[in-house]
Amino acid sequence: MIIINSIRIKIENLIKYMISELTKEGYLYMASFKKIKAQISKISPDIKITEERGCIVLNGEVDDWSKAVKAGQTAVNKKKYYGVINNIKLKGFSQKKRLPHIIDSSLDGTSPDVLIIGAGITGCSIARELSKHKLNILLVDKAEDVATGASKANGGVIHVGINFSRKSQKHLYNIRGNKMYAELSRQMNVHFEQKGQTMLCSKKWEKFPVSLLKLNAKLLGIPGVRYLDREELINYEPELPDFAIGGMYMPIGGVTNPYEMTVALAENAINNGANFSLNTAVLSINTENGHIKSVGTNRGNIYPDVVINAAGVYADEIADMAGDRTFTIHPRRGTDIITDKKAGYMVQSSMGKSPFSILPYQEATRPKGLIARTKFFIAAITSKSHTKGVGCIHSVHGNMLIGPNAVETPDREDTATRKDEVEAIINMQKHVAQKLQYSDVISYFTGIRASTYEEDFVVRKGIFTDNIIQAAGIQSPGVTAAPAIAVDIAAWTVELLSKKRPVEINNSFIPERKRPPRMTELSDEERDSLIKENPDYGIIVCRCEEISRGEIIDALNSPLCVPTIDGIKRRLRPGMGRCQGGFCGPLVMEIIAEHQKCKLSDVKKSSDSSFITFGTTKGAAV
Ligand SMILES: Cc1cc2nc3c(=O)[nH]c(=O)nc-3n(C[C@H](O)[C@H](O)[C@H](O)COP(=O)(O)OP(=O)(O)OC[C@H]3O[C@@H](n4cnc5c(N)ncnc54)[C@H](O)[C@@H]3O)c2cc1C
Repeated sequence: MIIINSIRIKIENLIKYMISELTKEGYLYMASFKKIKAQISKISPDIKITEERGCIVLNGEVDDWSKAVKAGQTAVNKKKYYGVINNIKLKGFSQKKRLPHIIDSSLDGTSPDVLIIGAGITGCSIARELSKHKLNILLVDKAEDVATGASKANGGVIHVGINFSRKSQKHLYNIRGNKMYAELSRQMNVHFEQKGQTMLCSKKWEKFPVSLLKLNAKLLGIPGVRYLDREELINYEPELPDFAIGGMYMPIGGVTNPYEMTVALAENAINNGANFSLNTAVLSINTENGHIKSVGTNRGNIYPDVVINAAGVYADEIADMAGDRTFTIHPRRGTDIITDKKAGYMVQSSMGKSPFSILPYQEATRPKGLIARTKFFIAAITSKSHTKGVGCIHSVHGNMLIGPNAVETPDREDTATRKDEVEAIINMQKHVAQKLQYSDVISYFTGIRASTYEEDFVVRKGIFTDNIIQAAGIQSPGVTAAPAIAVDIAAWTVELLSKKRPVEINNSFIPERKRPPRMTELSDEERDSLIKENPDYGIIVCRCEEISRGEIIDALNSPLCVPTIDGIKRRLRPGMGRCQGGFCGPLVMEIIAEHQKCKLSDVKKSSDSSFITFGTTKGAAV
């Protein structure tokens, strides 16, 4: 009797655990307001919970950020509420924002048809899509260039999307975006590779949960997903780690260069008539009776007909200013590591171990007993880690990218990298890329995901404000999804504007972006004739990435010229090779100064205040 009772209690606990896990994601069981309130008061009695305008609203102050995040996750009920508005503050923390120093009136009184806020891949995709119509489009970004937020700091993976819920917007836009990438990359002249994604298995039993994921892939409409034994898989991944007995191969996975794609979309939008204003921050929004009247910036007041919110980690603040907030961004850091190109051979696609695998180095943490193992299994199935962290990625440039991890942070601009995190990522992934050495690492970066508590995108028309459209909560797989999100948002914008006046098609829209030549992509004969035409193409400035003076001058003459070290780096990659700019940095500065007819000390790294040199001494810049 005692044994039966103990088994019953264990099964009950397991069911409760499953429900609580799935509730966190907001999928299965939706807690009532009363239940949410009771659960949150256990996290902290100081948190105040209310229901307002179809949202759950949390207020209060906590001494530990994880409590604020847990409260937000607990409050999710996707069926009953639009979303969670989590205003809980962390004691002693206040957000420091990077804002432009420029204050002028260059945009004061302008009245575009559409104002897009945010020049990441989402905003730039939308600008390009909208430029297929005859519209006055203005895109503003608080930074000095496009792609300075998450769009510059990510893995560039064009995801398969195997672990999304069928009802999620992530799934909807990922699958559509993935299908669009090959053609879009051709049009934008941006390199795209579709060599697949691989999920490695270490034990025979893993084939079972992996086959469940395969079934999910079928339900989601993802083609070609199949289990391959080691002998077959090695044809795709010659450096397969020893532990891999086989794995799931997903051929539609790909890689892009996310910052070049963002620049390309922006340039193409500009060439088709869109206007971009960088160093322009939205500081306030004036609404009357649920309608945006004007938008305040550091460059004056703008009077748009429609506003599109693509402001990344600040999208909830913009939605709040416009009176249309139904969600909260809780920033989640992700660090990626970049290796030298000579280590790029270790992976051909994007390769990682299955979430079910426990490798020898993880033995100490292996769950003991059936219950613990089942819990581990459920956690793996529900992707509790909140990263599609594929592990090792072969980048379009031939480097290997390793990561990312996923760490909650109160700071929306905390892009610092941390030694312990970098080490943890390497220690985990060196079992996948077995020949990886510390000396292969040339750099690392951190990006911030704009996650909502519902863990889904918020792509919708305004609910409380009639002339705003939200493109918010665009965390991973935002690079993959952006082109598809843009199609819907452009259609809704045209629909809104058409209520006032007919919106015409832009018959002179040119879908292709012309890109000046890249020396590394040319044959010897082609290089020869180009150098004869213009000797600047024969002067190699960046030896690691083989970039010539001619290419840098082309970038400075491009439709969106950003004459900074990072602006040139984002367009051509000098400084992204082994020497990390040690050799080419000063030469790039000289070319910029010469082109802009300014002093060397006026050339900045990125923003206005990012000085590299201050003046000259004994004739040299210091
Ligand atoms: C570590 C990491 C790895 C990732 N890996 C992948 C991957 O492999 N594949 C994939 O598909 N996705 C990936 N993602 C997700 C992807 O990077 C993002 O979803 C995508 O870049 C979001 O683009 P965005 O344009 O919405 O936001 P952002 O690129 O962040 O752009 C938002 C812009 O809004 C501007 N802004 C904010 N506030 C204001 C204001 N008040 N006024 C004016 N401008 C403002 C910002 O300056 C910024 O430029 C990853 C993300 C991270 C962090």
